Amino acid sequence: MKQKKFILAENELPKQWYNIQAEMPNKPLPPINPQTKEPMTADDLSHIFARECSIQELDQTHAWIDIPEEVQEKYRFYRSTPLVRAYALEEALGTPAHIYFKNESVNPLGSHKINSALPQCYYCKQEGTTNVTTETGAGQWGAALSYAAKIYGLECAVYQVKITMQQKPYRSSVMRTFGATVVGSPSMSTRAGKDIITRDPLHPGSLGTAISEAVELAVTTPNCKYTLGSVLNHVALHQTIIGLEAEKQMQMAGEYPDVVIACFGGGSNFAGIAFPFMRHNLSGERHTEFIAAEPESCPKLTRGKFQYDFGDTAGYTPLLPMYTLGHQFKPANIHAGGLRYHGAGMIISQLIKDGYMHGVDIPQLESFDAGMLFARTEGIIPAPESCHAIAAAIREANSCKKTGEEKVILFNLSGHGLIDMPSYEQYLSGELINYRVSDEEIERNVSQLEQIIK
Ligand SMILES: *Cc1c(COP(=O)(O)O)cnc(C)c1O
Repeated sequence: MKQKKFILAENELPKQWYNIQAEMPNKPLPPINPQTKEPMTADDLSHIFARECSIQELDQTHAWIDIPEEVQEKYRFYRSTPLVRAYALEEALGTPAHIYFKNESVNPLGSHKINSALPQCYYCKQEGTTNVTTETGAGQWGAALSYAAKIYGLECAVYQVKITMQQKPYRSSVMRTFGATVVGSPSMSTRAGKDIITRDPLHPGSLGTAISEAVELAVTTPNCKYTLGSVLNHVALHQTIIGLEAEKQMQMAGEYPDVVIACFGGGSNFAGIAFPFMRHNLSGERHTEFIAAEPESCPKLTRGKFQYDFGDTAGYTPLLPMYTLGHQFKPANIHAGGLRYHGAGMIISQLIKDGYMHGVDIPQLESFDAGMLFARTEGIIPAPESCHAIAAAIREANSCKKTGEEKVILFNLSGHGLIDMPSYEQYLSGELINYRVSDEEIERNVSQLEQIIK
């Protein structure tokens, strides 16, 4: 009997996260203060974020960071997550490749986001914060934060992108079930929201508009911290629990990946699965290929520009060095809500620049085709975001079919799609289309960025 699923015993669970910054040959450039143009310090960042997260954000010296006991205890509720050999998918494709996936959908919230929501709320609680706020696109981060806030006794307010509130009606119910307040963004409840609505009354909302509103709430409310579910270095750090487990599980399977793939919104699930393996590339022992799968409609990695840009639409956040489509970029209303972000994480942007990884862009219909095949073979309905990773894995597996190579492919299944069925409904009834962004539109947005990196 071929072994299909690999699970770690409790005493094998990682006790530290991996901080790739410490081992990168070229460190990511620092976030800078938009007014003074000076690099931000941990003190500056801790006006918005938990102090411990602000320190982790800028830590370029410690490669291993202890996971607090109390967080390990909560991780044990649902970790390890299974590493699965996708025999049925391999067979359907007729590929000689070995395909594995790490199943991060197996927790009560249904995505990897909980891995960072838990430590962020834990640190806030330790530091005497009473309220947390955030933005959410498709709603997975908001759902994870709502739950983590509840178990650590924090009040939680979530700004959800308006269009995804309509596309994924049950996600706000999930958040409210966990006790959070949910507001559609842009809203009239903040100055940033009012400005956006005044300029564009039918604005569908974006992660950028929702971040502006949440940051404004955090800085104008005492004892309230802002939290972010992607993009930032400390979020990537927390997510490395995924790859650290996967590394041990691949050992149980007796293999090591030739290719590691994840879908890409701001980079957290990609960082999570990839960085622990990438450390062996940095040291020269291994030559694994790393592929970030982004949607064709929001192609910051493959067609964006490496430049300092704001993380939000209104320009409240620090300036971050990243591959970006410009903070005013308005992505099409595709169904992978979690991938509609204009920029990429700072670490990942530097790693792409240095050639350690690369992006591919996937058309919306190809991503759903891949998700359907995966559902029908492996029995799991993937999140529309995760479908992009599956599509990239299938491209690799199909190219192995041509060359006869027995490549070992590992991808991250970042979440399940059971609350995303309206998207599948539209796909099944033939209403979905592809959206390709024109070069002119990209150029129009990136040409407005200040030229800080010459
Ligand atoms: C949020 C989300 C993503 C995209 O965010 P990353 O930070 O790039 O990982 C992908 N998949 C799922 C299921 C998500 O919830």
